[in-house]
Amino acid sequence: MKDAEPRKRLEAHRRGIATRRATNDQELRRRLERAGRSEDWVATLADWFDGHDLAFGHGTDNSTDEAYWLLRHLHEWRDELRDAPPDRTLLDPLVELAVRRVRERKPLAYLLGEAWFAGLRFRVDERVLVPRSPIAELIERRLAPWCALEPGDRVLDIGTGSGCLGIAVAVHCPGTRVDATDVSADALAVAADNVALHGLEDRVRLYRADLFPDTDARYRAIISNPPYVPAAEIESLPPEYAHEPELALRGDAAGLGPTLRLLDRAADYLLPDGVAIVEVGDSAEALMQARPRLPFVWVELGRGGHGVFVLEAGDLHRSGHSAGGGAGRNRT
Ligand code: GLN
Repeated sequence: MKDAEPRKRLEAHRRGIATRRATNDQELRRRLERAGRSEDWVATLADWFDGHDLAFGHGTDNSTDEAYWLLRHLHEWRDELRDAPPDRTLLDPLVELAVRRVRERKPLAYLLGEAWFAGLRFRVDERVLVPRSPIAELIERRLAPWCALEPGDRVLDIGTGSGCLGIAVAVHCPGTRVDATDVSADALAVAADNVALHGLEDRVRLYRADLFPDTDARYRAIISNPPYVPAAEIESLPPEYAHEPELALRGDAAGLGPTLRLLDRAADYLLPDGVAIVEVGDSAEALMQARPRLPFVWVELGRGGHGVFVLEAGDLHRSGHSAGGGAGRNRT
């Protein structure tokens, strides 16, 4: 009996939360019901998202884009929204998804099973990182000016996850052939779905591998968004990130492990005029300290994002980050 009081207080507290939540949800519904145009729905929803301290960074970087995405998805991407009156049959699913976005702090991409990347639609779920690498904008211009991909060129996407980088290369750079690797069989299942969705089975091949595939190919470009978050920082990421596979985020203690292993062997897989283009985000500074002899070129990104570098095969060779001189590739 001693515990009865605290338990009662806890129950009351829970009831309080539930009531506040219901009122809050009702308030969203009322505001949406009052709105006269689809655009007002977007504004109302964005405003509601803003009031709930969400983190954006999984396909959008602000509440308005997130609200617009949600509504366009429910419209099955049929029409622009603008002045049209809102489709009131969508009110229930809209409120339900918006409430889940706020309550579960789950990235919208997972709630919808969809992400947009380099202008393309991808199927996603919690087995893969939500596609978002700023490398998209480089792919859309065929990696120019570092190398203009031509038909017949081979490209390697390391740690492909949903397949987004490799598939975007195959779509935006006609005639290229892409090999994409991932260490996670779960991720590769999602990537295979996306390869099929885009009808690219003949030009995108998937390999289960820790970084490099077991092929004889030499690539014109290696692209990668490897895991690079320092282990100790994983815990401090906003709750949205906890829904993503930790394997796709967590580097080693300094965040650099996978990237350094990639750099150490990349020259052996690149053509003499090939390039490596890799995202390391906030780990850029630490990487330059870890590899002071490598002449990293940090890409200026027009659409936002940071921490994407380019290295030429020659630089990787000259800096000695290649097994070419010793027990090199295919010579074991
Ligand atoms: N913080 C990075 C992001 O959200 C982590 C991605 C990664 O480790 N590749 O994009």
